[in-house]
Amino acid sequence: MAPTSPKVFDYIVIGGGSGGSGAARRAAGWYGKKTLIVENKRSGGTCVNVGCVPKKMTYYFASVNEMLEKGKGYGYDIPDHIPFHFDEFKRKRDARIKTLNSIYERNWSKEGIELVHGRATFTEPKVIEVTMNDGGEKISYTAPHILIATGGYPLIPPNVEGAEHGITSDGFFDIEHLPKKVAIAGSGYIAVEFAGVLNAIGVEVHMFINGETILRKFDPMVQNTITKRYEDAGIVIHKNFKGGFKKIERLDGGTANPHPDKRLKLTGNNGDEFEFPEIIWAIGRAPEVEDLNLPVAGIETKKSGHIKVDEFQNTSVDGIYALGDVTGEAELTPVAIAAGRQLGNRLFGPPHLSSSKLSYDKIPTVVFSHPEVGTVGLTEPQAIEQYGKENIKVYTTKFTAMFYDFASPEEKAKNPTQYKLITAGPDEKVVGLHILGDGSGEMLQGFGVAVKMGATKKDFDNCVAIHPTSAEELVTLR
Ligand code: FAD
Ligand code: NDP
Repeated sequence: MAPTSPKVFDYIVIGGGSGGSGAARRAAGWYGKKTLIVENKRSGGTCVNVGCVPKKMTYYFASVNEMLEKGKGYGYDIPDHIPFHFDEFKRKRDARIKTLNSIYERNWSKEGIELVHGRATFTEPKVIEVTMNDGGEKISYTAPHILIATGGYPLIPPNVEGAEHGITSDGFFDIEHLPKKVAIAGSGYIAVEFAGVLNAIGVEVHMFINGETILRKFDPMVQNTITKRYEDAGIVIHKNFKGGFKKIERLDGGTANPHPDKRLKLTGNNGDEFEFPEIIWAIGRAPEVEDLNLPVAGIETKKSGHIKVDEFQNTSVDGIYALGDVTGEAELTPVAIAAGRQLGNRLFGPPHLSSSKLSYDKIPTVVFSHPEVGTVGLTEPQAIEQYGKENIKVYTTKFTAMFYDFASPEEKAKNPTQYKLITAGPDEKVVGLHILGDGSGEMLQGFGVAVKMGATKKDFDNCVAIHPTSAEELVTLR
């Protein structure tokens, strides 16, 4: 039988996650382009299924427990231990995510986007073959414009024998019965968020980190304060665990992952041995490119495996674009969505949008740690490097938020609030803002707008404070 010719679309989007969805909806919904999304797992991608959404729900779950503890200071007669049902919460969380999967698909369908569930691979520069999840049929598609938005996956260390006995962030969301104790390898966003949540719901948490502090890519103020705060809250931080682990052995004889009866022996390269029911690898993510067969299309990658793109999201091949985590640039959901929308404007929008692109400068970001951390712009060392020490001015404040007026000294120590503003040049333009404390996540968005607009310290001072809040400290810094 003669091979059938590929089905033709205006735009093919590989990956139905944050970036793919944003891109496809702009092309189809706004500009009426015949668009195909190819998604091999559940619609919505990492953020919806094993990322931001279930993470934030779990953060809220833990926040309830923290708030119960804090209520004691106000005179509420709250028993030391209030039972909770993590398995019930997990079931509700799973159900809500299923609903979100359907909402994504309904929105795509309303906008005329065609969705196929299968794994895409390039067979020619502008042709992909999709192996359908349901039945394994292979169908080819072509389009003048193809977007790769295939995201990434969590790494497990390749050089640790038995590393597969641990879990990653994906496995974290499968946990139904909380282990009593958890080891977490890593000190970035995921390690810090998971450690905070687990600690807040009574799990004994041990972090194994490369350096002296957690969140090492953040401003030193953030690193130092959050590290101390985590230690004050009872998290054991194994610092300078540089060599990492040598071997992970399963002592319970099982293989299922995660499992409530799991017992692991962890052996460090330094010879230290530990027994834990679970270890979570939170050591970064790698781009999901394996199945795409990029060389067939001639698409170039970086040393890290991420796809090389220019500022317009063009890959090395004309008419093929990439964005989101697969490019390794600011791995955040709103970044992927915004890049997808801008790309749609550029490719299919009116002429005045033909140079549209996402500005990757001054992207605000929040770590949902306990308490939250928010950052936009440069850290102090980066500002010194960029402007010279003599040209920057740093304003800081550290205080106990009014909410903790009736808390015990220990509770106060566990809940610091600390802000830093970094300005540059004679007009004192704000080039970095770092906030740590309750509510920082919600606070940062507005300050992000100001910093992105090029606000100066004087602009901050000219804004009348909102009293009584913690945020007012940022417009009254001396
Ligand atoms: P993804 O959302 O990963 O989507 C890629 C999709 O492509 C996937 O659905 C995948 O199945 C599909 N795919 C891959 N290969 C193929 C193929 N060959 N054929 C067909 N389909 C394919 N960001 C935030 O901004 N805030 C947060 O609070 C936050 N929390 C996070 C918490 C965790 C635990 C994790 C892991 C991430 C978190 N992130 C957060 C990051 C955020 O989830 C990602 O930056 C975002 O999802 C990237 O979107 P994307 O479109 O690039 O990729
Ligand atoms: P990060 O890049 O944030 O952190 C990776 C961590 O792994 C670093 O602490 C690094 O340590 C450590 N590390 C690397 N290799 C090893 C190793 N072999 N052994 C032990 N530790 C190691 O990655 P995450 O996996 O935490 O998150 C991935 C991305 O997802 C983030 O960068 C972020 O963009 C996104 N994300 C965003 C969130 C949000 O917006 N709130 C939440 C979660 C994820 P060190 O720095 O000390 O060398």
